[in-house]
Amino acid sequence: GAGDNIAVPDNFAFDSSSQPVLNGETFHFQTEVSRLMNIVINSLYKTPEIFLRELISNGSDALDKIRFQSLTDPSALESNPNLNVTIAVHKDQRVITITDTGVGMTKEELQKNLGTIAKSGTSEFIETMSGDTADMDLIGKFGVGFYSVFLVADKVRVTSKSNRDDQYIWESTAVDDFTIAKDPAGNTLGRGTQIAIHLKEGQDQYLDDSRIQGLVTKYSEFINFPIYLRRTKT
Ligand code: ADP
Ligand code: MG
Repeated sequence: GAGDNIAVPDNFAFDSSSQPVLNGETFHFQTEVSRLMNIVINSLYKTPEIFLRELISNGSDALDKIRFQSLTDPSALESNPNLNVTIAVHKDQRVITITDTGVGMTKEELQKNLGTIAKSGTSEFIETMSGDTADMDLIGKFGVGFYSVFLVADKVRVTSKSNRDDQYIWESTAVDDFTIAKDPAGNTLGRGTQIAIHLKEGQDQYLDDSRIQGLVTKYSEFINFPIYLRRTKT
């Protein structure tokens, strides 16, 4: 397919027994994040597929940001001139990767953006949703974002390279804490973010290329960058 020539590093191996990839610092999720994750998982378990919409939309936002930066600083694109999202399915490992060549995140941004909630109205939202009547309309309007990945994942690894920092790895199993470590592989991304999702038991439908293809088509309608689907090698 069209994405065959796009370099997507295969550095997502979760059980590399030889080399402990993560020797990282441990951080705790902000209490509100843990509560939001519980709400997301309890109210959206019937439509887990929305994780893909959220991750594609984050990739697109990150691409918008680097493109905007490049208007005043064309050298911002030198770290990777391609602007796209590449999705790959790795059946053997039960892993999906979603890689964008967007703005990326520094270590500090990984810690803040994927560990706290900055959005105003979050506390009020959590209070409302914690009651007996989970309002599906409300959760839709609020936007569940990155944490929806835990609808399908039991482990997530985010590798990110910003122009302003080294490449870092954020990893979590969603239970209370996450780790961040400098990537021992160095800068493999050039620039951008790779989300590697290890699927939970029972979520194997997302290893099916045609299922992913259908969802990408559905969720890419308003995305202004190419989205490549790398098919499973067999
Ligand atoms: P929202 O997109 O509404 O801000 P999310 O939970 O989806 O909320 O994401 C939280 C934040 O994490 C984003 O605002 C962004 O700063 C950061 N982020 C998430 N995914 C990416 C990505 N692929 N590239 C760069 N930053 C990202
Ligand atoms: Mg988002």
